[in-house]
Parts: sequence; C-alpha cells; structure tokens
Amino acid sequence: MLGFILYCAALALGGKFVTANNDPSIFERIMAGEIPSEMIYEDDQAIVIKDINPQAPTHVLIIPRVKIPKLVDANDTHQALLGHLLLVAGKVAGLLGCADAFRLVINNGAAAGQTVFHLHLHILAGKGFSEAGLASPFN
Ligand code: 5GP
Repeated sequence: MLGFILYCAALALGGKFVTANNDPSIFERIMAGEIPSEMIYEDDQAIVIKDINPQAPTHVLIIPRVKIPKLVDANDTHQALLGHLLLVAGKVAGLLGCADAFRLVINNGAAAGQTVFHLHLHILAGKGFSEAGLASPFN
C-alpha cells in the first residue's frame, strides 16, 4: 500500500522521481555498448574497465553488472556479489601485474568523492601510496 502511494506521488511529480531513480548510470551505458571503454575483464557478474581519468599508472574500475548505487545500499542478497568483486580485484591485479602492491578504494557518497552512483571498486597501482595519505581527501 505504501509503495502504491509513493508510486502515485511520483507520478504526480511528473514522473521525475521515477525517472531519476531509473536513469541508467554511465557504467550501465558502457555495459550496453552506448559509451566506449577499454574493457580488460568481464564475467557474468562484473566488468573491469580502465578509468577514463587515471589517478595512478594503473587505475581500473571493477563494476558489478547490477546497479547498486552506493555500498551502503547493498544488502544480504548482494553478499556473494560483494565477495566476487573482491576476488575479481585479486584476479585482475594479477592480470595487470600489480598483485604485489595495489590499493583498493570504494568511495561511498558524494562527500567521500563518489561521482558515479553505481557501486565500483578502484584498483590503483604503479605508484607509492603512504599510509599517512589514506585520508587525505578528508583533511
Ligand atoms: P568515483 O568518483 O565515483 O569513486 O569514481 C568514478 C570514476 O569513474 C572516476 O574515477 C572517473 O574518472 C570514472 N569515469 C567517469 N566516467 C567515465 C567513463 O565514461 N568511462 C570510464 N572508463 N571511466 C569513467
């Protein structure tokens, strides 16, 4: 019943609410082939592409095919998928020759630097990362 009321309210707002939530993310558009990308790995649950604006010599994005906007939006049904993404990170780090040293980053929320609201993991490698710099965006 509550869902129906919310749906009606969304329609009353000219469908903007529904449209905003259903807009395909840039990563969904990449998966659909609408936007080109440099794909370096894919399986039935995830893709891995080179970041368009690399922050390190190696910078790739591990992206689940299912759109979860933010990490905090994940729930128990995503448990296996989240584990899979970590296994993909290790596998891809091996493929890229950086298994010995890489940083894995998830930005959750705009204030933490998230700009694409479709969960993704950054693999960064090929340069030194100091423990002291871990929280530098928050300083
Ligand atoms: P966030 O800031 O959300 O954690 O990370 C989003 C990342 O996606 C950024 O590092 C950004 O450079 C990357 N990105 C945004 N648009 C595109 C795109 O169209 N193609 C690729 N390959 N990366 C993108």
